Amino acid sequence: MGSPLGTKETRGFPPFSKPILIISGLLPADKRNHIKKLIEKYLEDFSRGRLKKPEKCELCRRKQCLNWHGFYSRQVISLAGTEYIPIRRVLCKECGKTFAVLPGFILKRRRYGIDVMRFALEGAERTTCEKAAGELVHIYGLFIDSLTIWLWKKKIPKLFLQAAPQM
Ligand SMILES: [Zn+2]
Repeated sequence: MGSPLGTKETRGFPPFSKPILIISGLLPADKRNHIKKLIEKYLEDFSRGRLKKPEKCELCRRKQCLNWHGFYSRQVISLAGTEYIPIRRVLCKECGKTFAVLPGFILKRRRYGIDVMRFALEGAERTTCEKAAGELVHIYGLFIDSLTIWLWKKKIPKLFLQAAPQM
């Protein structure tokens, strides 16, 4: 049984077993290229059938019981723009539930990519939510309400910003 360490603090958020985007310290154009490359790599892995299935079922936590189970299309808004990407689903043989296998650059039920959230949250930490929203418009042409950034700040745990190694 034994639940993983930190379960309490991260409740409601997906486990960050996937690599988190490393964008801190990069210049704006490099951040855009970085996410672009990650998305391209993901699309290539998808089309070549190279995506990896998670080891455990997200719901019942049993191991080696997942089969691919179709896919759907999902919008992702990143620092590189807006696009639709395919998301594969898996079906658990043990509990019969299905869930999505998301790439490392997006979170469940959130339209904006992790790169956008990180950029906004780092800006908000440094200055204010309003200024962070202004930077997103000015640098990336992305209009995000400062209230949205404020809500991210409330909901996204600090872990999100701290977990990724700095470049
Ligand atoms: Zn299961």
